[in-house]
Amino acid sequence: MREDAGVAELLTALVDGTGRPVSVDGTTLTAPELLGAAAALGAPLAGRARVAVHATPTMDTVVAVVGALLAGATVVPVPPDSGAAELRHLLGDSAPECWLGAAPPDPHGIEHLPVDLAARASYTPAGVAEDAPAFVLYTSGTTGLPKGVLLPRSALAAGLDGLADAWTWTAEDVLAHGLPLFHVHGLVLGVLGPLRTGSGLVHTGRPTPERYADAARAGATLFFGVPTVWSRLVEAPEHAAALREARLLVSGSAALPVPVFERLRQLTGHDPVERYGMSETLITVATRADGVRQAGWVGVPITGVETRLRDEDGAPVPHDGESVGSLEVRGPTLFDGYLNRAEATAEVWTEDGWFRTGDVACIAPDGRHRIVGRASVDLIKSGGYRIGAGEIESTLLGHPAVAECAVVGAPDEDLGQRIVAYVVPRSDVADEDALGAELTAWVGAELSAHKRPREVRFVASLPRNEMGKVQKKRLA
Ligand code: ATP
Ligand code: MG
Repeated sequence: MREDAGVAELLTALVDGTGRPVSVDGTTLTAPELLGAAAALGAPLAGRARVAVHATPTMDTVVAVVGALLAGATVVPVPPDSGAAELRHLLGDSAPECWLGAAPPDPHGIEHLPVDLAARASYTPAGVAEDAPAFVLYTSGTTGLPKGVLLPRSALAAGLDGLADAWTWTAEDVLAHGLPLFHVHGLVLGVLGPLRTGSGLVHTGRPTPERYADAARAGATLFFGVPTVWSRLVEAPEHAAALREARLLVSGSAALPVPVFERLRQLTGHDPVERYGMSETLITVATRADGVRQAGWVGVPITGVETRLRDEDGAPVPHDGESVGSLEVRGPTLFDGYLNRAEATAEVWTEDGWFRTGDVACIAPDGRHRIVGRASVDLIKSGGYRIGAGEIESTLLGHPAVAECAVVGAPDEDLGQRIVAYVVPRSDVADEDALGAELTAWVGAELSAHKRPREVRFVASLPRNEMGKVQKKRLA
């Protein structure tokens, strides 16, 4: 055990009392009020090493997370809409000693400690085991069962400072978003970010165009959203216009479609900035506020982070803006390992100590990154070619009949994999065969013959999770 300066240092603006008010779904606390309510959890939490937070988008969740961090406990944010099997997996894997904050409908026999938003105690630093992580954060489960990622305080601090630098994010800002509070995006960036930088926070509850417009009119300067938030906003031009007064619009968690980037520019006067990261690495690459903002590109490594590309044999791939390789990262924002998964933890590190993201990307000579997608689902191997699904998806989105789409590789005896496009049409399709042929020809003309989908399937919607990520496993 040591005196944990780390917690106070992580939430600097909150602890030193300079932070601006935090508002979550209509409940507002000043920084001293939030610190007081969170510090009041120190006594009930004494001796508890790991606590689960039923992470509803409420002030209870924010106070619970902050209180547990200040008390030196490890926080396990649990998605509030977890189904029975998922909940069993998360609780069985992480074995929390209690629930803190909002009450889950089924506590699974685990003790529940409420928070009191009106409580006020003074904060005294807690002793914390040196290797106790701040969070066990579960991955989205896009490619398998969600994995518990052990995140140390030092990684959180380094990651937030890198973004504050990239986006000139300061106490002058008021951040607005309506993201879930159990992933890196909504929780680490979206809650700890303001408590470290001192910016205000307005959590809008549901991230609707109307609520984002209201937040802008109330003075929010910085907006976070996953791509679906932005694509809904551009479908509501009357609300999008309110964001003209904002300073910076940030997109992440999945690729922002190029047409949405362009519509945002037209409607808000801002080119959005994209950033890339994952639970295991936090945000490693971001478009700087003063950098090149280009649709389809996610920016440059944040301070202290290094990136590189490797081919399947581990040989270097040139950073020439065109060559595609597996993205590897190294730096101060990385996790300590997966909970209860020594083997998986060992597998993700290269011999020389770089983390394999599992994503494929290309890097331009000036350091800008384009994310092609996931090596496991977005890299299609067809007829001897390696084809990125994302390129075909953006091309299809350029066709006026296509509202949304997802491209996957389906097993094929002849080709290895065959390109299949799932398309949500903009309006009713009178003749699916004719439109399918038109879309295939469109891709052939825009890209090349071997990138044409062999099959186009029209669907009413795509299976997405709460972060807007398409669940391609469910399509394939
Ligand atoms: P699991 O690891 O359980 O399969 P997951 O990888 O979706 O789920 P997260 O850690 O929440 O879980 O998401 C990280 C992934 O999200 C990245 O590896 C990348 O594929 C994708 N991603 C994040 N930001 C972007 C972006 N700006 N553009 C494209 N993809 C992105
Ligand atoms: Mg992942």
